[in-house]
Amino acid sequence: MVEQALRQVVVVDGDDASPEVMIPAVAVLESMDLPIRFLRPLIGEAAIEATGSAFPVQTRAAIDDADATFFGSTSGPSTAALFYLRWGKQTYANVRPCHYLPGMRSPLSQPEGIDFVIVRENLEDLYLGLEGDIADLDALDLRSPHARMRLADLGPGKYAIKAITERGSERVIRHAFELARRRDGQRKVTVTCKYNMLHVSDGAFRRQALEIAEDYPDVECETFIVDDFLCRMVMRPQEFDVVVTPNLYGDILSDGAAGLIGGLGLAPSGCYGDDYGYFESAHGTAPDIAGRNIINPTATLLAAVMMLRYLGLDGAADRLAATVRALYADATVLTPDQGGTASTTEVCDWITTWLERDP
Ligand code: ATP
Repeated sequence: MVEQALRQVVVVDGDDASPEVMIPAVAVLESMDLPIRFLRPLIGEAAIEATGSAFPVQTRAAIDDADATFFGSTSGPSTAALFYLRWGKQTYANVRPCHYLPGMRSPLSQPEGIDFVIVRENLEDLYLGLEGDIADLDALDLRSPHARMRLADLGPGKYAIKAITERGSERVIRHAFELARRRDGQRKVTVTCKYNMLHVSDGAFRRQALEIAEDYPDVECETFIVDDFLCRMVMRPQEFDVVVTPNLYGDILSDGAAGLIGGLGLAPSGCYGDDYGYFESAHGTAPDIAGRNIINPTATLLAAVMMLRYLGLDGAADRLAATVRALYADATVLTPDQGGTASTTEVCDWITTWLERDP
């Protein structure tokens, strides 16, 4: 047997209810006997206690040395790690699959065949954190062409900057087209943003996508204004394959997409840069259900599937994906958000037992 190279994965257990899914999900991966070494460097409150810093240099170095990070949602001080994983590691493409598996508790009467991926630009748009007082912009003498008045004349208030750069758009749009080519889907990219109102910024994103589409004659390309897209996504989600969109729309649309198949407990997320990837659930820390052992581990397990593929462990990814499919087909051990009465622990035990039985 050829010895496989050992991969290193940094694990961040996260805050509130996140450790309740991260700890058993890593245990599932460990039970699969994979060539992965999991590391848990200090972070957040524990790191503050030990080192005085929420995100010590050693933790940052561990992330740099690792092949990927498996990330539990954070709130509070450990969020510094998230900022590093995004901007420090330049993970510009946030890939959020929306795949209905029979047995999931979708609110739709016909969810069969929903299988699309939202590719959200992950680093710019309104998420640069450039906000402030409108008065600070006085010197720019900005005028609203729509309101036909000076910004300063609107009176006191706040602004936020939306930045759509050529480099930022190009790399995420190309990621979407490459994914459409690779995926076993309709070979279609849908571009969506508010290009009718935001002619300059979102207009540039759309124009750039249409230019890039010419490099991919084998992939269909269509564009929809984001409000029209949302209506189509709710009414005919089966029509979509790969959807590419600026940051804010992608954040909102992907939670909506999760709702189509049965909720946030089902939605994984992978963030890819040119030389790094981190993987997490699309949901947050679910503080309202923390400590109850009922948080659905599916999103985290499916994020693990994405991570295994990224690490080149396709066989293991297929096994774990097939086991999650079997969990829903069986539908006897599901968490309350899916209409079941099982605990998180019971679902993860079911997964481990199945993996042991069908190696
Ligand atoms: P963020 O802004 O960080 O994405 P959020 O404020 O949107 O977080 P979430 O933590 O995503 O909030 O939770 C939103 C709702 O979905 C909560 O009621 C939470 O309990 C529920 N939820 C989230 N994830 C799960 C899960 N895995 N299983 C069950 N319920 C979940």
